Parts: sequence; C-alpha cells; structure tokens
Amino acid sequence: MERKYKDTSSEEEDSLNEDEMAWIPWYCNLKGNEFFATIDEDYINDDFNLTGLSSLVQFYDGALGIILDSDPEDPLSEDQQEALERSADILYGLIHARYILTPKGLAHMHEKFKKAEFGRCPRVFCQNQPVLPVGLADMQGVDTVKVYCPKCNDIFNPKYRRHSHIDGAYFGTTFPHLLLITYPELIPTKPPQQYVPKIYGFKIHKSARERQLQLQQKKNSSQQQQAKQQQQQQQQQQQQQQ
Ligand SMILES: [Zn+2]
Repeated sequence: MERKYKDTSSEEEDSLNEDEMAWIPWYCNLKGNEFFATIDEDYINDDFNLTGLSSLVQFYDGALGIILDSDPEDPLSEDQQEALERSADILYGLIHARYILTPKGLAHMHEKFKKAEFGRCPRVFCQNQPVLPVGLADMQGVDTVKVYCPKCNDIFNPKYRRHSHIDGAYFGTTFPHLLLITYPELIPTKPPQQYVPKIYGFKIHKSARERQLQLQQKKNSSQQQQAKQQQQQQQQQQQQQQ
C-alpha cells in the first residue's frame, strides 16, 4: 500500500497531517485495514518477537525500517520504495499474527470485538452477533481472512469486499479461540437456534425427499419406456411401408 508523501497540491494540509503520523497508526487507519490492531512499537523493537521472520519476508530490514519510521540510509528509487512497501505490508501482517496472541494484543482485539469492528454474523438466528477474524492457515499466501461467529461456531467471508483480499495468516488459526478462552464472558450462552424448513406449517419428514426422488425416477423410467415403444412402432410402420 503506497503511502502519500508531502506534496504541494491543494491537499497539502492533509498530506502534512499524514506525514506527521507514524506508519503503524497510518497503516491501520487505511480503508480496508480496519481489522488490524495497532501493534506497540515496543513489541516490534524486541528482536525476540520477530524470530524467524527475516527468512519469510523479502527486503526484511528495509520493510522493518518503514514500519518503525526510520529513514533509509540511501535514497530509494520509486520501484525500490514500492517493493519495500509491499514487504512492509507482509511483515506487519506476520508480526500482527503473533502480537494479537499476547495479553496486550488480545486486550486490544477484545476492544475492537466489543465495538463489532470485525462485522456481525450474517445468520438470522445469530441476531447480529459480532464476529472475529480468523485464518484457515498460518502460512502467508494460502487463503484470505474469514470471520468466525462464536454463536453458530461457523465461518463466513467478510461482509465488505475491501477485507476480502487480506491474508488469513495475518490473524491465524488460533486467535479467535484464544480470545474466547481468555475472555470466556464473550462466549454466547444461548445454544444456536436452528432454522426448521416447513411446508404449510408442517415440518418436512426426512423420508419426504427420498419418496419424491423415487417417484421422479419411476416417472422418468416409464417416460423412457414409452418413448422407446413409440420409436419401435415408428420403425415397424416404416418397414411395412417399404
Ligand atoms: Zn453466527
């Protein structure tokens, strides 16, 4: 994601404000990045928390420099800047997946969940239950983020398209479940209500569909037989005429 730098256009004031903002809050404020928690710089400054990430992210040092707002030693070309920014996106996501499993990260995500910042379950019977982001894999590049509903225990695609491109690994497979164990009061107590299909007010018996299928099959096979007989009769008539 490209960051806007100072320009002399009519938006000068906005650009200046953006420039004064540190990269992390700027990044988390971007439209489409609402699911992300703003990671504490102290967490990123502790090398122990970043163990193993340098082998997963291209231009690791430069990307980390962008996240922590340190100026590059040499001036960068536009292409280099773009490549570093792409790497910074990935690195922030991978650090984020670790951060949201820490007590501080969990507390931050708890606040966001209480405000339903991750959206709400689309199931009617879940009655607008807030959802939590979840990944189906912990490896980056496998799948996009989904949302998990603690009421119906199911996952869904995020409601807005702007969230559908986010990598699921930036939240990981563990996060929502660890949050619910840490804050058990968030687990909905009511069992999920199930929808019951009815016809004229009556529940549909399990065997109804099977019977209907059998009837359909019988009908189809008798139609096939009729068609075959008709064909045979036509052939006989043609032979007699010859
Ligand atoms: Zn639900």
